[in-house]
Amino acid sequence: MESATASEAAAQRGSHGGAPAGEAASFEVRRPADGSLIRDVDVDSPERVAEVVARARAAQPEWEAIGLSGRRRWLDRLRDWMIGNHDRLADVMQEETGKVRAEAELEAPFLCGTINYYVEHAGEFLAEETPTPHILPLKVKRLRIVYRPYPVVGVISPWNFPLILAFDDAIPALVAGCAVVIKPSEFTPLSTMEVVRAWKEEIGGPEVLDVVNGAGETGGALVDEVDFVQFTGSDRTGKVVMKRAADTLTPVSLELGGKDPLIVLRDADLERAVNATATGALANTGQICMAIERVYVEEPIYDEFVDRLTERVRKLRQGTDGRSFGADLGAMTTPAQAEIVADHVEDARHRGARVLTGGKRKEGPGDWYEPTVIADVDHSMKVMTDETFGPVIPVMKVADADEAVRMANESRYGLSASVFAGSSRQGEQIARRIEAGAVNVNDVLTTYFALGVPMGGWKESGIGFRHASYGIKKFVRPESIVSPRVKQGKGDPLWFPYTPTKRKMINRVFRFINARGLRNRLGLGPK
Ligand code: NAD
Repeated sequence: MESATASEAAAQRGSHGGAPAGEAASFEVRRPADGSLIRDVDVDSPERVAEVVARARAAQPEWEAIGLSGRRRWLDRLRDWMIGNHDRLADVMQEETGKVRAEAELEAPFLCGTINYYVEHAGEFLAEETPTPHILPLKVKRLRIVYRPYPVVGVISPWNFPLILAFDDAIPALVAGCAVVIKPSEFTPLSTMEVVRAWKEEIGGPEVLDVVNGAGETGGALVDEVDFVQFTGSDRTGKVVMKRAADTLTPVSLELGGKDPLIVLRDADLERAVNATATGALANTGQICMAIERVYVEEPIYDEFVDRLTERVRKLRQGTDGRSFGADLGAMTTPAQAEIVADHVEDARHRGARVLTGGKRKEGPGDWYEPTVIADVDHSMKVMTDETFGPVIPVMKVADADEAVRMANESRYGLSASVFAGSSRQGEQIARRIEAGAVNVNDVLTTYFALGVPMGGWKESGIGFRHASYGIKKFVRPESIVSPRVKQGKGDPLWFPYTPTKRKMINRVFRFINARGLRNRLGLGPK
């Protein structure tokens, strides 16, 4: 049984903290660290979404027409603004997510890198192509493929990395020449609203970037209006979005949930594997789609690994650190997600797993769950099959590498994975057997930061990829243009009227082109 998404669970409970109930005109954005109100945000009705998309659509042809160099000038200004306002953006994000400072400060610099990467590589990724005609008669034609943007891209984003998961797609879409309308999570809309405000008011950018706010109704309306849907969120909502997009045959790219495995083989550097597991599972309080959610350790090193990991996790500091960098883990961003985490840990405990540290919510205001290590888990437990999306590390003993690979692949998800081995070569051999869109060898999370390789899910972790050429080519459509290279006659042998003589001649030409071997080409048959 799948867990409800944070949006659904909040909607079931009423309007508190992020999710507007029914036709509400506004919703509250709260500080997850203590539950206090930051501000109300107006809900954008379907009619208002249609207006915003229409305005973006009207501005897009000019945006496409100014070309890559013209668009690059605007995106360079956006990058410079982000660099100049880095601290302020981190303040807004820290308030609305409950992240620790080190993680709130990560997002704007990462996106500056995304801007640089795409403005510098788009010329190559979207270059016109001039394929060679595949048969002789077409040599009189010039073949071209030009890449034209979808006019308006709708970006629907989640709450765990509010800026990265909106703009890591919005940026390449803008670079490609699309207009973009973002619907951020109703739990964390403020940092996206701030960037869009700056684009309009401080940078003075064209009306090709906008934001609409609300929950499912607003998101659904955006799906109805745009030409391409870029969705990041739970697999459950992703399926709803894909069904809705089918009504208008609108293409979708879905970046969905994961249950990422980490394998530790007996020859691995144990200390590095322990440190990597703690960070890969608990960074952003475990609220990362690519977080390590299952650990498989070979039997000879299992006990030592579990002891060292527990000791490592016990030393982590959890709290509200403002600008002090004094904590490693922050709050859970939504109350509903904290409930899912508590449910998974209780289910594991009930089925016989050992909770070695953590294992409960923290007392007091806000939504907090302690960093947790659980040993002796198996695949009968939710914590090993469903997405937990919280600060929990379940560790399972396996007999050997083959069992580790089998268990890692026993999942409906396939977002990414990590392998710790004695050598890169051995790690890479295991990586090639893992069913996931990306695999780190002797490392965690790095595949996301390496923009030169695609990031996307296999199986129910998604459809489509971001980063590398994939991350921008999805926002364009190939347009084929075929034109004459030489002066043409008044007609064409393939055109009307059809006559027996013409047909005979054409058949001979086709046989000459398609057959192999001179006798066959000339229709002489076998010797
Ligand atoms: P969610 O699916 O609840 O919501 C995601 C977005 O969809 C929100 O903006 C929400 O308002 C919107 N939405 C909800 N119902 C909708 C509908 N009917 N039509 C259109 N839009 C709708 O996800 P969440 O709780 O915000 O985020 C957590 C999930 O996101 C986790 O499953 C996590 O793994 C996944 N995630 C995936 C990636 C990735 O790149 N693969 C990255 C981060 C998070």
